[in-house]
Amino acid sequence: MGEITREDVEKYLGNNPQFAKEYFDKKLRVEVLGEVFKGSPASIQESTSFNEMTQVEESALIFELLQSMQDEAASMEAVVHRSLRRLCQLLSADRCSMFICRSRNGIPEVASRLLNVTPTSKLEENLVSPDKEAIFPLDIGIVGWVAHTKKSFNVPDVTKNSHFSDFLDKQTGYTTKNMLAMPITMGKEVLAVMMAVNKVNEPEFTKQDEETIYFTLSFPYNYSQVLLWSANKVFEELTDIERQFHKALYTIKAYLNCERYSIGLLDMTKEKEFYDEWPIKLGEVQPYKGPKTPDGREIIFYKIIDYILHGKEEIKVIQTPPADHWSLVSGLPTYVAEHGFICNMMNAPADEYFTFQKGPVDETGWIIQNVLSLPIVNKKEDIVGVVTFYNRKDAKPFDEYDEQITEILTQFLGWSLLNTDTYEKMNKLENRRDIAYEMLMYQTKATTGEIESILKLNTNIIEDCEEKQLIQILKEELPNPKDVELYEFHFSDFPITEHGLIKCGIQLFFEIKAVEKFKVPVEVLTRWMYTVRKGYRSVTYHNWRHGFNVGQTMFTLLMTGKLKKYYTDLEAFAMIAAAFCHDIDHRGTNNLYQMKSASPLAKLHGSSILERHHLEFSKTLLHDESLNIFQNLNKRQYETVIHLFEVAIIATDLALYFKKRTMFQKIIDTCEKMETEEEVIKYISIDPTKKEVIMAMMMTGCDLSAITKPWEIQSQVALMVANEFWEQGDLERTILQQQPIPMMDREKGDELPKLQVGFIDFVCTFVYKEFSRFHKEITPMWDGLQNNRVEWKSRADEYDEKMKVIEEEKKKQEANTAPKGCPKSFGVILSLKKKL
Ligand SMILES: [Zn+2]
Repeated sequence: MGEITREDVEKYLGNNPQFAKEYFDKKLRVEVLGEVFKGSPASIQESTSFNEMTQVEESALIFELLQSMQDEAASMEAVVHRSLRRLCQLLSADRCSMFICRSRNGIPEVASRLLNVTPTSKLEENLVSPDKEAIFPLDIGIVGWVAHTKKSFNVPDVTKNSHFSDFLDKQTGYTTKNMLAMPITMGKEVLAVMMAVNKVNEPEFTKQDEETIYFTLSFPYNYSQVLLWSANKVFEELTDIERQFHKALYTIKAYLNCERYSIGLLDMTKEKEFYDEWPIKLGEVQPYKGPKTPDGREIIFYKIIDYILHGKEEIKVIQTPPADHWSLVSGLPTYVAEHGFICNMMNAPADEYFTFQKGPVDETGWIIQNVLSLPIVNKKEDIVGVVTFYNRKDAKPFDEYDEQITEILTQFLGWSLLNTDTYEKMNKLENRRDIAYEMLMYQTKATTGEIESILKLNTNIIEDCEEKQLIQILKEELPNPKDVELYEFHFSDFPITEHGLIKCGIQLFFEIKAVEKFKVPVEVLTRWMYTVRKGYRSVTYHNWRHGFNVGQTMFTLLMTGKLKKYYTDLEAFAMIAAAFCHDIDHRGTNNLYQMKSASPLAKLHGSSILERHHLEFSKTLLHDESLNIFQNLNKRQYETVIHLFEVAIIATDLALYFKKRTMFQKIIDTCEKMETEEEVIKYISIDPTKKEVIMAMMMTGCDLSAITKPWEIQSQVALMVANEFWEQGDLERTILQQQPIPMMDREKGDELPKLQVGFIDFVCTFVYKEFSRFHKEITPMWDGLQNNRVEWKSRADEYDEKMKVIEEEKKKQEANTAPKGCPKSFGVILSLKKKL
């Protein structure tokens, strides 16, 4: 072929006006978009080579991509859809489609995801909902064949292709004539198949089209990376919000011309949990003086997502990274989070202000050269994270162009994803939560009939009755505290019916004179107490009986244990009420199970899942005036009550027990050294934090009080607890298909005595020993605990003895039957010696 002259081109264009139009359309579009990125490396006038053109196209694509992310909330389908529309135009195809490759039960298949995309069609028209998707095994249809062979196919006439299946045509009434299909691969894996159908105005797709589809799908726009997120393991380690983040950054990763980047996600909580503030308020821990974000948050990177793009691609998620993690140790991300600046550093290791790790950061031998770090800012202009890019792939320093692109990008992350999408979702979730609690409450609320079963009066008459009279009528129904031993640490609920326990509960409020002092209408009190009882489910252990026992023990600690002297009447009232509510609507499974089974509760609450649920439930009851036993308090008093509810109920999460242990002990140590009772009372009651710490420990003491009861009671309750655990273990085995821990494994039920001894030593001893050191009146609990330990220990020893005998029998038998030679463990000993 000779040299092409200007005349040749003009002549060709003149004879082929359609081609000329398409060519200039394409060119012009690129040029216009190229303008958007001023200073972009290629100018359209001079660029004729494919390479240079794609560079401009690339920036156009980033722009397109970012726009599509903003417009369509970064859904993968939306991004792909945009490109299919474009592809359809470039190929002059009648339509394009995308099929996703996946496997079910180990058998690979392809499923339609986007069908019949035209240059102008809308995503909603093309997106196939999961219940409508067409699924092909790999041995049927050209798409399946492409997925199977991992090769592209240009099929000029489908009727002559043995792999063609007319299944979809028959369903839609469309006639497929010719086809161009290409697999999108990631390593050896096929992620998707793109397909263009029926070339417009021509009998088949051309060689040129094959190139176009190849370049469009694989070079400037790396689909494999876009698609990866759907199958990525990393996903499992991220929360919903972080996934949005991850999706976005992973999508545009093809354009980030760097070897690595890492995102540090910042803790957004402005207020600390009460138990984390205690050490500061008690003066045991210095208040935080380190750097803060502009909106006043402590700078805590709670998670790092590390994208490694050099060598073998990898994504690492580092939960609660240590301060000396290579990506944080320089202090640059903290600096960016503090000031909100963009930092671009050419020779990072030589920097004097930030000390980057100089050698390799990991086993890959990779070292930091240059760095570009930016804050990710949300709509409210809070810094939600910091993204840091490392080492441009061409070894040049990051330039203004990189800064621009990355800045747009980080803004997008913060704005379009974190806020509009997730924020709204969170709001929706919050609304749904409120509705759910309202519904729960209406199901639970005591009926008039139920109230009349305690307050023996026709409800119609109640309204006309004077409160004094009502109190008299009610009191006649209530049990004598002495008869049922309400003031005793060894109180047992066994002889009392569940209905009777409601009356006992009401009686406790009369005993502390709360009804009179805080003008609690007795009808409301009855309704509330009955409703609390109904709020408990009939699970094996965490039922109303447990709820009542915790309330009764709180009462006994205050009155018999004399802890009341540190608290006001109102506080005592709130503490007993909170204790009654503390496990309301328990499901008989623990927090870990809620998380593992992805229960709706786990979606509503991040930590202390069940405890937060019990709290929300209790608070919802109080929102209903006819249940609000605190309705005659003033605003400040009511707020105090709610705060105490929060602290008391959340404190029953045993996971927090170790946080309060030393603080509690220190208070008691100090009190022990004081000479007069007045001094102690003053020292504690003057300081709300100390009162909270003691109250929180009281809640634990109440919650675990079954372990201090007389052996006849303790042995039975322990079996109930164990049974509930075993039931959870059964669920873990059947539903989650996981092996339960020994405590929840009914097959290891014989180990219960040993587990009890461990629980007593590890958790309970401290609580009751310290409380009886603090107040000698509480010693009966400590005595009861020690007695139960003796009982459990003797049973554990018995079991151990039995096991020993069995073991020895086994060994004897093995010794008789085993072949002579080197014992199995010998190899282990040898390898241990080598290490020494
Ligand atoms: Zn409990």
